[in-house]
Amino acid sequence: MSNSTKYVFVTGGVTSSLGKGIISASLAKLLQARGYTATIQKLDPYINIDPGTLNPYEHGECFVTDDGAETDLDLGHYERFLNVPTSQANNVTTGRIYQSVIEKERRGEFLGKTVQVIPHITDEIKDRIQLLGKNNQYDIVITEIGGTVGDIESLPYVEAVRQMMWEFENDCIVVHLTLVPYLAAAGELKTKPTQHSVKQLLELGVQPDILCCRTEHELDLSLRKKIAKFCNVSMNAVIESRDAQSIYDVPILMQAEELDKVVLEKLGLSSKSSPNLENWKSFLERLKNPKREVNIGLVGKYVELKDSYKSISEAFIHAGVSNEARVNVKWIHSEKLNSTNIDAELSGLDGILVAPGFGSRGISGKIEAVRYARVNKVPFFGICLGMQCAVIEFARHVLGYTDAHTTEIAEDSKYPVISMMEEQKNISNMGGTMRLGAYRCQLKPGSKAFEAYNTEKISERHRHRYEFNNEYLKDFEAAGLVPVGKNPETGLVEIVEIKDHPWFVGAQFHPEYKSTVANPHPLFVAFIKAAIDHNTL
Ligand code: GLN
Repeated sequence: MSNSTKYVFVTGGVTSSLGKGIISASLAKLLQARGYTATIQKLDPYINIDPGTLNPYEHGECFVTDDGAETDLDLGHYERFLNVPTSQANNVTTGRIYQSVIEKERRGEFLGKTVQVIPHITDEIKDRIQLLGKNNQYDIVITEIGGTVGDIESLPYVEAVRQMMWEFENDCIVVHLTLVPYLAAAGELKTKPTQHSVKQLLELGVQPDILCCRTEHELDLSLRKKIAKFCNVSMNAVIESRDAQSIYDVPILMQAEELDKVVLEKLGLSSKSSPNLENWKSFLERLKNPKREVNIGLVGKYVELKDSYKSISEAFIHAGVSNEARVNVKWIHSEKLNSTNIDAELSGLDGILVAPGFGSRGISGKIEAVRYARVNKVPFFGICLGMQCAVIEFARHVLGYTDAHTTEIAEDSKYPVISMMEEQKNISNMGGTMRLGAYRCQLKPGSKAFEAYNTEKISERHRHRYEFNNEYLKDFEAAGLVPVGKNPETGLVEIVEIKDHPWFVGAQFHPEYKSTVANPHPLFVAFIKAAIDHNTL
């Protein structure tokens, strides 16, 4: 059977957190830089339908695509590296696979047959993988299998890979990531865990074609030979993957190891030209040689797990590079902020970002942080809940509505300045009520946002239930907090700014999801610029 789309499966062994997402994104970047179209898909072996209902402490940030899919944070890396949007099809969980098989069963589509893991679940997995290969939209689909080989929950995925390797013999390869640990006492790198991990894959009928070995030290020739010999791969298919200073170094490191070349060789594709990574290298060059530094406070309630704000911290890196500045982020726990320690905690910062979030924990600290930024004229950027906090703070301390709140937290507030739209109220199923994905926004010329985007029409991604309550619009405007971005269809307020302030912008959407190496987000770039100006005052 022949198929014009090629498939690369990325599996992981020995331990989790080896960085399969970054390796997949780096490989895709190199293939893209050689002129191939590539996309990356993540298959997550957990039962949740999507990560939308997961606490960030469980799984880090929930990334949102244009089509409104709530997805794994690895999709953020894929977009940041490739500068190509992903969609619902790029992230599939076991929950979604089972849901779809069970729905088919209820509709009688299996014609009375017994529905089983093999073939029905594995067929559904294979369909989801091939969905991205349909219509020859991409030359290469890279599918990352979440979890670690040998986990019970990963078994159907590895089985689906095994079947595809047989069905599309010349169009599929497996890249297996392992760990080569350094034993300090022995002063040696050890290959045994890699050998065992490959054995485990072999027991499941899958022979990896390429091994990416995570290591803290150089894999010398003898180690490469040993791994090749015991794991049945060619010498040039043993790829060293050393710890890097920045995730953005990884494509360059993988190029030096010729990962892309070996992949193309094994897929029977021509190497075309050598990868054009000029822009990427110039980004790295500027990243490593900043001309200045700025200090930004990120106020959030999940700061112990920095992955909860992955897209925001990456957007800072992109915007820093645009401004030739290193952005030092001070992670500030909103729950620990109060009116007595706020000056000490926030003084010396060049900019303050109040992060997105759900629920009441840490909200008063966020409101205090907004007040500090507004009163002290420190550049302020509020995202989603951060923007809502800005509206609440202004209502309480400028308009004098002491009881002002969001109905998410205080349902019977006398001044519900942030509330739920009428049409949303009777939908109660969690996950079903959110405004998710891309919505259009019309900007007011002359605003800070317009200045940043340099266009009137934008589209940004949303993930929230509550909205600016337009009943109070006139009061806010009269006092100086103005809506400068609105959804043209619904009139919902998407961006607010404070007039008498160097840079005070609150966005109801999540700009961080759209920031990439090639296209740093304009609002982040403008915020960092304002922070630099503040720093040099
Ligand atoms: N909890 C708020 C809402 O649902 C904000 C959500 C967010 O910050 N993503 O409207």
